Parts: sequence; C-alpha cells; structure tokens
Amino acid sequence: MNSSEIPRYPLVINGETCEPSSGVYTDVVNPATGLVVGLAASGNEADVDQAVAAAKTAFSDPQWRRMKPKQRSKILLDCANAILTHAEELAGLEITSSGATINRVSNMDIPFIADVFMTLAEEVKEYPFVTSLPVRPLPEMGHSQVWKEGVGVCGLITAWNFPLLLLTMKVAPALAAGNTVVVKPAEITPTATMRYVEILQSVLPKGVINLVLGKGSVVGEALTLHPDVDKISFTGSTAMGKHVQHNCTETLKRCTLELGGKGPAIVLLDANLDIVASGALWGVFMNAGQACESGTRLLVHEDIYEETLSVLKQKTSRLVVGNPVEPATGIGPMSTETHFHKVMSYIESAREQGARIVCGGNAASVEGCEGGFFVEPTIIADVTNDMKVACEEIFGPVLSVIKYSRLEEAITIANDTHYGLSAGIWTRDQVLAQELARELRAGSVWINDWHMMRADAPFGGYKQSGYGREFGRYSLEAYLETKAVCASFETQSDQKAMHRIVHTQ
Ligand code: NAD
Repeated sequence: MNSSEIPRYPLVINGETCEPSSGVYTDVVNPATGLVVGLAASGNEADVDQAVAAAKTAFSDPQWRRMKPKQRSKILLDCANAILTHAEELAGLEITSSGATINRVSNMDIPFIADVFMTLAEEVKEYPFVTSLPVRPLPEMGHSQVWKEGVGVCGLITAWNFPLLLLTMKVAPALAAGNTVVVKPAEITPTATMRYVEILQSVLPKGVINLVLGKGSVVGEALTLHPDVDKISFTGSTAMGKHVQHNCTETLKRCTLELGGKGPAIVLLDANLDIVASGALWGVFMNAGQACESGTRLLVHEDIYEETLSVLKQKTSRLVVGNPVEPATGIGPMSTETHFHKVMSYIESAREQGARIVCGGNAASVEGCEGGFFVEPTIIADVTNDMKVACEEIFGPVLSVIKYSRLEEAITIANDTHYGLSAGIWTRDQVLAQELARELRAGSVWINDWHMMRADAPFGGYKQSGYGREFGRYSLEAYLETKAVCASFETQSDQKAMHRIVHTQ
C-alpha cells in the first residue's frame, strides 16, 4: 500500500464525519506485521468541546430522552442488525489494528456484540423506569413515584484489547437508558471503532453518538474534566482508572471503572486434570493473554503439581501462534512493540527471581509476519505469590503456576492481590465449589471453566479492579439517575399537615 492509499479515519461529530481541528493524523500499525494500516485523526480539546456540545444538544431533545421503551428497544435491535450487516468489514479492521484472531472476532466478539444489544432491547421493555410507591394517607394524601432517567452526556473511554466489544458494553446500556455519548477509543486501535460509530450513526438521531479519536492525555483528559459531561465509563489500567476517578471529582461526574485483574484459579485434588489444563490455557491464552479477566495464577495442590505441569506443557505444545487472519491461529501478537518488550521483561524477571520456565519464554517467529510482536505461550512453575509475575498484570501469554498444600492457604493466596475481577475453582465437588466461591473476593467466579461471560450477567471488579457492573440490567442501572416525583392531593392550604411546622399561628 503506498501512502496515498492508506485509509483515513476521521472524527464523527453531530452525525457528520469531520477533520480534527489539529489537522494531524497518526499511523495505525498492524501488530502482526508492523505495517501501517491506517491513519487516525488526532483530536484535541476543541474537538471534544464540539462533540460534547453535539451530545448535549441531542440529549436535550425529548424525542430521544423520553422515547417510549418499545421504540428504544427497536433502535437497539437496529444497532445489532447494523453491526451484523457490517460484521466482515468490522472484523477485518479489528484484526489488523489490535491483532485479534479471526477465530475470536468472528466466533466470539461479533455474536457477543449483537447479543449485548439484543439483551438490552428485551430489558428496556421490562425495566421499571417508573415505579409507584404505596399510597400513604398521612400526613396527607399524595402519590409518590420513582422515575429512572438517563444521566446525560456520557464519555466512553475504552482499552485496546477488545475494542468493539468493550465499547458495546458501554454504548448499548448508555443508549438503552436514553443518554447521548462521546466515544474515545484507545489511540492504537481506532479503526474498527470509527467505522462502528459511523454505522450506528446511520440508525441513531444526529448527535446521539459522537467520536473523538486521539491521545488519552489530550482527548481522554478533556472528556473526564469537561463540565458538560455527566458520566464517564472507563475501561483501562488501574493506574489510569485512579487518575480518571480523580478528574471526575472536579465536577462530581458519575464514574464507573473496569480495570485490571490478576485472576487466580484454585485446582483441587479431585479435579479432572485434562479439563483443568485445557481450561486454564483457554483462561490465560485467549487473546494472547491480553484480557483483564484472564486466569493468570493457577494454584495447584502439591500432590498433583508436577502432573498438572506436564499436562499443561503437553497441551501448550499443540497451540498455534500465528497470523491472526488465519482461521487456524489460536494466539496472535502483542498489541505493540513496546508491549512485547514489557511482556518479555516480566518473563525475564521470573527467571531472575528463581522461577522455572516450563515451556515458552521466548519471542515467537511467525512465517509471513516477520515484523510482528509475537510471544511464545509461556508456563512458569515454582512461582510464589510475592514474585513480580504473580503480583503484576503482565497482559501477555504467561501463566504462573503456584503450589499450595492446604485449601485455606490457597484461598489466602488467591485473595492476596489488590485486584478482584475474576477467580476460579476446578473441582468435581460442586458443593465445595460453592463454599469456596463465597471466600473469593472477585466480581466473577467461574467453576470448572473460564471467561464465562453472558450478556445478562453482571461483570465488573472488586477492590482495585474497579466498580460498577457491565452487561444487561446491571449496566443499564449504571447509566440511570433516580428521581423521586411526589404529588400532593391536598388542595386546602390550612389542611397541609407539614406546613404547620413553619406556619405555627
Ligand atoms: P490504559 O489505561 O493505558 O488506557 C485506557 C484508555 O484510557 C485508552 O483509551 C487511553 O487512551 C485512555 N487514557 C489515557 N490517558 C488518559 C487520561 N489522562 N484521561 C483519560 N483517559 C486516558 O489501558 P490500556 O493499556 O489501553 O488497556 C489495558 C488495561 O485495560 C489493562 O490493565 C486491562 O486489564 C484493562 N482492561 C480492563 C477490562 C475490564 O473490563 N475490567 C477490560 C479490558 C481491559
């Protein structure tokens, strides 16, 4: 591709694609090849001002804000259909900017995105947007209702690892609640998001969805500080989540945060090791380990420790690291060259701290992708929970296997992290599994599998993995304000019981 053929990805504001006020575009790099696949607009504060103003105007339109649930449900279904109609194009852009495999995007992300919209399309038809409280005759006759209304203008900031899915987890409930939005994707994965917004724009009123591409330190910062943004929904690292929360306090914006994780899975003595190994590898190597809810710490009983390692090693040897566009590829590249080096440095730290590399541990070479950023799926044994690889989020294909001798010890190790997004248990004893699930401090607990997410079940963090929940009804509630509307039926001023507190004569 010569430079004049490289596609450009502009901003979307008030129903129109538009140039960034800076006039600047930056390269979008395919992490599987190192080649430039797009040029993305670099937005700034002035663009954020325009996008927020458009969203504010759109929110002030009662036809959007006060739309009947049945009609809103239809719009959500239209969104699902529009995405499905453009599935192939969107999948292509997702793969070439984020390194997602075609297998994952086609078989997981796109159907899941449609499911998120369709689940909310059903939810809005049933959700109690208006509730009447029981009539109280004293101190005088009246009627009180609780109304649920959209929060207003929502800034939606997302990470690069599942660009469209993470965005849908925010866009769908925001729209379902009657809000308007300004979307800001990660700077390295803007292409699919830009087309997604353009596609949804075709089924939504002007200004309901807007997009400003650009740096987090410029566009994200401006959104989180903007006085006309009512809510921020953020997905990203815990460090940045703390900064975003701090910015939101300036104007007391509503804020929900989906942050990092260091998921522990406890393998009990009675577990089926064949399923454990397959499941643990699915848990940690999906998206080459670049998933917040990955199972990155496998806690194995000492009596089955070596046997488990051997099954893990054998199954890892059959995994295909490859070009993400090939259907046979199970593990794609790291998102950027910088991130690749970061992951390699974590593996090095494990060696230095005395852990044992069971398999992997090196850069992987992929034919036809010589400029790509691939890491071999890596299993590290003899890890203790104080090692760097066990404490910090690596965000790469690296599994730390930790030995325990007593179940209480395993629970302590599992909870000994400042994260609390996902946790798991491998056992044939479902009753014991339920007991253990009570002890694990995480927003999702999976028993005998991993990544068991559903469009109608809550997903989100305990502790420093964030707060607020995504998916279905739980996400809808995160985009609603609660209003009490109380009407008095007493028409005689001298009969207004509570007025006597002031009118004493
Ligand atoms: P990041 O925190 O670096 O960036 C996330 C987003 O924040 C990007 O869009 C970025 O541009 C933006 N940003 C940067 N500076 C900002 C600022 N000053 N103000 C506002 N926004 C700013 O995270 P990342 O590297 O893109 O993503 C990886 C992280 O995301 C990992 O920690 C992962 O665990 C987490 N994550 C969490 C979930 C979840 O649901 N809990 C899902 C996916 C990823």
